[in-house]
Amino acid sequence: MDQFLRKHFAFLTTFWNKFLPHRVSNSCPLEFWEPVDGSLHPTLDPDPEEPAFSLFGVLYDFTARSADELSVNRGEKLCVLKEEGGYVLARRLSGDPVMGYVPANYISKLSQEPSAQQPWYISGISRTTANHLLLSPPNRHGSFLIRDSESNRGEYSLSVRNHTKVRHFRIYKEPGGSFYLEKGHMFPNLEQLLAYYTANWNVIHSPLLHPCIQKRPTETDQWERPRSEFQLWRKMGEGCFGEVWEGTWKNTVPVAIKIMKQADMRDDFAKEIQNLKCLKHTRLIKLLAICSVGEPVYIVTELMRKGNLHSYLNSAAGKELTTHHFLSISCQVADGMTYLEEQHVVHRDLAARNILVGEDLACKIADFGLARLLKDDVYSTTGNAMIPVKWTAPEAAIYQTYSPKSDVWSYGIFLYEVFTYGQCPYEGLTNQETIQQITRGYRLPRPNSCPAEVYGVMLECWKSHPEDRPPFHSLREMLFCIYKWGHYPFS
Ligand code: ATP
Repeated sequence: MDQFLRKHFAFLTTFWNKFLPHRVSNSCPLEFWEPVDGSLHPTLDPDPEEPAFSLFGVLYDFTARSADELSVNRGEKLCVLKEEGGYVLARRLSGDPVMGYVPANYISKLSQEPSAQQPWYISGISRTTANHLLLSPPNRHGSFLIRDSESNRGEYSLSVRNHTKVRHFRIYKEPGGSFYLEKGHMFPNLEQLLAYYTANWNVIHSPLLHPCIQKRPTETDQWERPRSEFQLWRKMGEGCFGEVWEGTWKNTVPVAIKIMKQADMRDDFAKEIQNLKCLKHTRLIKLLAICSVGEPVYIVTELMRKGNLHSYLNSAAGKELTTHHFLSISCQVADGMTYLEEQHVVHRDLAARNILVGEDLACKIADFGLARLLKDDVYSTTGNAMIPVKWTAPEAAIYQTYSPKSDVWSYGIFLYEVFTYGQCPYEGLTNQETIQQITRGYRLPRPNSCPAEVYGVMLECWKSHPEDRPPFHSLREMLFCIYKWGHYPFS
C-alpha cells in the first residue's frame, strides 16, 4: 500500500517520508489505472547497441510555453530521455543542465557526419526537392545547400540557386576522405570546400551567398495524420461540437475519435486542439492525432472505455462504488486541476460529465472547449456564451469573471455529484433560481453517504469570496488525507 501511495501520489513525497518511513505492504484496497506510455509517433527509443540516452541536435529554435517545456536554440545538443506524444523529454548538454519537453520534430539524431548539424546541410532530400526548396521563399539568388547524392551513396551534391535556376554540382569523395568538385582541388572537409567556393564563386559561376532556409515545421505537422488511418467502430457519445466514436488507429490501437459536426466550428475545435497539445498530465486526456486537412475534422485522443463519469456513476457498475472509490476519484481530479492551476489555465466547465473513466477507475479531465489560458489571474468575458450555471461560481455566472477559484467552486459541485452517484445539483431549481439562492447564501446540503469531512471541503469550495476558497493543491492534500486516514488534520 505504501509503495502504491508513494508512486501514485508522488506530490506528497515529503509527507510520505515523514509518516510512512519505508514500510511496504501488499494490500491495496483500490487499484489506480497505470498509464501505458505507448506512443503512436515515430519512436525515438535508443538503439540497443547505443548508450541508453541518445544524442540529438536542435534543428529549430523552440520557446517553452509551459513550465515543463525546455527552450532550446538551433545547434544545441540534447540528451533525449524518453518520447511522449510527439514530444521528447530532453536534457540540455551545455549551459544549465535543465530538462523539459521539446517537440520531437524540432530535433534530429546526431550523426557521425561532420556536416549533419550545419545550416547548409540537408540530409535525405532529392534533387527535385532541393530545386523546390531553393526556389521557394524565403530562399533567393545565392541560396545553397549540400545534400546526399542520390546516385552515389556516401557522396554529396552542392545545389545553388542562380537567379531563377538551380545548379547542381557533384562533390566527389576520395577514398582517403577528402572532397573535391574539380580534380586537383581537394579539401579535407565540406566546410573548407564551401569556404573556397564562397570566396572563388566565379569558378562555378554561381555565388554561394546564403545557406538554404528550411521552413520550420508547423505545430500541426507533428499531430496531423491522414483520415484513412482511422477506423470508426461505435458511436460513444455526442456533444455540442460533434460525435465521439470508439475506433482504432491503423486497425490496431484503440482510440476515441471526435468528429466535428459543422465546418463553422473549426475555430472552437482549433481552441480545444491547442489546449490539448499544450497541456500534458496523467490526469488530463491525451491527444494522439488530428485530421484537419479536408472535412470532417477528427480529434483523436486516448480511449477511456468507461465513458464519462456522470453516466458511469449512474450505471450499475457505478452504483457499486463506495466512499473510498469516491475519494480516489476526487483525489485524481484534484491532482489534474492542480496541474491546470499551475499552468494558469482555467477549465470553466469542470463537472462529472467532463471527466472520463478508464480501466481501474482511472479518471482524466476532458473537454477543454471552454478552457482558457489566463494572462492575468482572472478571466472576464462580456459575451453571453452558454454557461453551465449550476456548476459555475456566482462571480463567473453573474459577472463572467473566471479564475482558478471559480474552477474550485465547480470542483465543489463535482464532489457533490460524485458523492450522490451523479445526482443533478439544485434539483428542482431553474438556473435563475439557483443564482438567486446562492447569492442569498444557500448551499447544497450534505449528501446522505458523504462524510462530514468531505462536506466540509465542499463548503470551503463554495465560499462567497473567491480568495477564501482553497487552492487545488490544498484540496488535493485534504482529500488525500481523508482517503488515507479518514480525516484531515488541517482544521
Ligand atoms: P461538448 O460538446 O461541450 O464538448 P461533451 O463533453 O458532452 O460536450 P464530447 O467531449 O464531445 O462532449 O463527448 C461526448 C461524450 O463522448 C462524452 O460525454 C463521453 O461519454 C464520450 N467521450 C468523449 N471522449 C471520450 C474518450 N476519449 N474516451 C471515451 N469516451 C469519450
